[in-house]
Amino acid sequence: MIEIFLRNKYFYPNEYHKTIYDVNFNNLKQKGFRYILIDLDNTLIPYDENLANENVDMLIKKIKSLGFEVMIISNNKEDRVKKFSESIQCSYIYSARKPFKFGFKKALKKLNNPSKDQVVLIGDQFMTDVFGGNRMGFYTVVVDAIKRKTEKWYTKLNRKLETRVLNRLKRKDFEYYEKLHLGEKR
Ligand SMILES: [Mg+2]
Repeated sequence: MIEIFLRNKYFYPNEYHKTIYDVNFNNLKQKGFRYILIDLDNTLIPYDENLANENVDMLIKKIKSLGFEVMIISNNKEDRVKKFSESIQCSYIYSARKPFKFGFKKALKKLNNPSKDQVVLIGDQFMTDVFGGNRMGFYTVVVDAIKRKTEKWYTKLNRKLETRVLNRLKRKDFEYYEKLHLGEKR
């Protein structure tokens, strides 16, 4: 059963980077994207921190200055997502239930229903961010988790599946795997 699921074409991200700071936002702008949806936990800050640090703050300002609209989309609870997002003056979706479409649809509505090919989704997980974002038809960017140690049990479970997805990609589509440097993903 699970093997069939892992064959899913939606596990292919468009880009992989070590951190969100390595993403070339100028390039994304030139490609015609206008909206950046960003996962919160382990993409911008680890689970054991609550607010944006200076680097996050500067990054968000930089992305906005390029003309992007930025939204935080997280499966975490309202309290955490709201406090964080407001501190960097971003709109947000909490309890998004990625990889299901529910939260993404809410996000699109909040952005006045842009065309899906103008939307980039950046996150650290294959099972929630990449899979969900691709299902929506977004351009997906995956980054390494900031700190894996403090992840919860269900995320640890997702990581096990993620390892299998990566192994499968390597085996079945080595050229793509190499092109994205997925061998460096931790
Ligand atoms: Mg995350």
